[in-house]
Amino acid sequence: MEFDLSKLKASGKFEVEFDEEYLISRNDLCDLPDVQFACNPRVSGHLSVLKTSCVVDAEITYTLAGSCSRCLTETQKTFTCLLQEEFLGHRNEEGAYTYTSNRLVLDQAIDDAIAMSLPLNLLCAEDCKGLCPKCGANRNVAFCSCETDL
Ligand SMILES: [Zn+2]
Ligand SMILES: [Zn+2]
Repeated sequence: MEFDLSKLKASGKFEVEFDEEYLISRNDLCDLPDVQFACNPRVSGHLSVLKTSCVVDAEITYTLAGSCSRCLTETQKTFTCLLQEEFLGHRNEEGAYTYTSNRLVLDQAIDDAIAMSLPLNLLCAEDCKGLCPKCGANRNVAFCSCETDL
């Protein structure tokens, strides 16, 4: 996802609201086993173009789909995270996001924000009871009489 700052500046606009689909470019962005993005994340928010930097204040919404980490049932869940970053038009700070030639690319910052907010596991419900370690029954729907220490 990128913005052409020269176009914005030429039109006399230094602020813009946006609400766009983000095309994920890396397939290792979600590293949970058997879990994928159900669709492209949405990024909506506000961009301010300042003299030597750009400030992005946006919300990223993404949906993960895959098997529940405990009971393996197919499940889907939507998450949101914030993207609040300043992008510098010149390289000076170590680790700061930058842009060059009036081309502001948000991909790295979006990937980072999503990666930081990914859950440790995908659960069908917070209180998912999981599978019985002995007989493999799904304890959310079946009752088994195995004795376990859990
Ligand atoms: Zn489950
Ligand atoms: Zn059992």
